[in-house]
Amino acid sequence: MSIPKVAVVGGSIAGLTAANVLRDAGCEVDVFERSDTLLSGFGTGIVVQPELVRYLLERTSTTLDDISVPSHAMRYFDAASGRSAGQVEARWRFTAYNAIYQKLLDAFGTERYHLGKELVGLTPGTDSSSAAFADGTEVTADLIVCADGGGSVARSQLLARKPDYAGYVTWRGMVDQRDVSAETWDFFQDAFTYGLLPDGHIIAYPISQVSSEGEVTGDTRLNFQWYWNVEAGAALDQLMTANDGSRRPVSVHFPALRASSLEEFRGRATSQLAPVFRDLITGAPQPFVTIVADADVPQMAFDRLALIGDAAFTPRPHAAAGAAKAAADAWALAESLIEASGDVQEALVAWEPERLAVGQAYLAKVRAMAAALQHGGEFPPGATEFRFGLPKPA
Ligand SMILES: Cc1cc2nc3c(=O)[nH]c(=O)nc-3n(C[C@H](O)[C@H](O)[C@H](O)COP(=O)(O)OP(=O)(O)OC[C@H]3O[C@@H](n4cnc5c(N)ncnc54)[C@H](O)[C@@H]3O)c2cc1C
Repeated sequence: MSIPKVAVVGGSIAGLTAANVLRDAGCEVDVFERSDTLLSGFGTGIVVQPELVRYLLERTSTTLDDISVPSHAMRYFDAASGRSAGQVEARWRFTAYNAIYQKLLDAFGTERYHLGKELVGLTPGTDSSSAAFADGTEVTADLIVCADGGGSVARSQLLARKPDYAGYVTWRGMVDQRDVSAETWDFFQDAFTYGLLPDGHIIAYPISQVSSEGEVTGDTRLNFQWYWNVEAGAALDQLMTANDGSRRPVSVHFPALRASSLEEFRGRATSQLAPVFRDLITGAPQPFVTIVADADVPQMAFDRLALIGDAAFTPRPHAAAGAAKAAADAWALAESLIEASGDVQEALVAWEPERLAVGQAYLAKVRAMAAALQHGGEFPPGATEFRFGLPKPA
């Protein structure tokens, strides 16, 4: 097999998984990440799916216990009254973004992980493709893997598509044991908990705590999201405007949140939610708000360029497998390249149809979940069509 030179743009879950599996497949791989610093600071929760942890379990000495906490149930409550709406047995494990990121980065190393490289332009080609970065540098490779996330510059340039606002936002936060009452802390252990409302929902689950060096400490914290329907226009603009007056496109993080947004967030929790949900939400010292949006794509392969992960299909988060889809895109790409003995174009042609099918089926699934969860539809405990994970394409 020839040794393709591969440039991966974006160094998160999709990019790092791709970098590892393609390097293991014999490619010469460099990663180009926009951020100036490593991404270990993001500690929000992720439900473990097999595809997400496949690299760590198969190719490193990491075990599930090293990076995740187990649970035994999915529990459903009316978040306003606190009444139980059902419970089913479910053995999900929960991890934190930075636990996965750090392990994938440890496996790849930092020598060929280039920070401060913001993609600004792509030149696709049949012999090679090249990528230009904001710092004026450029890289040419046999294959460029675009893993630059939901706001993908690559997707915009190749397909002129951006994610569409889904009509709601998610408030997210994490609490440590000291932030909430003992009753609230105990209530949310050992389960994935839904708090259902007529026009929104809350999810909460325990996750591993990770140190600033990316090491799992052995302690846990609670991670939650509270989804609010917010009309596009003035109401959304107001919520997404930071205290420096700038309208943020995706998220407003804690120190930048306006006092009026925080007041509304805590005020609604106090007036609308049952005590355990109220205590959880108001206990978060640094909540933040993120727009929910999704993107659909008709194409993922372009001669010697591939779109993977959220840079291709950006799914809403409800089936907890966006990161798993990102990792699975990367595995399939490496497997196709091996199958094609390093012939990049042949590999991409073989790789694309199934990945498009998975992306489309997953998007349909999370949109159906959103219709039930955000607009008062039926969300029966344990419904198989709403089970977390990637669908198998027909
Ligand atoms: C609220 C929420 C909850 C979620 N919960 C789950 C869950 O429980 N389980 C799950 O599997 N998934 C979950 N997801 C989805 C998951 O976070 C994404 O699907 C996953 O992170 C996609 O990985 P990615 O590497 O494709 O993109 P990202 O993680 O978005 O990474 C993109 C990377 O590209 C970099 N980048 C961006 N632009 C450029 C540029 N121009 N040049 C160079 N680099 C660039 C970014 O800095 C970043 O490092 C959730 C998502 C949200 C919003």
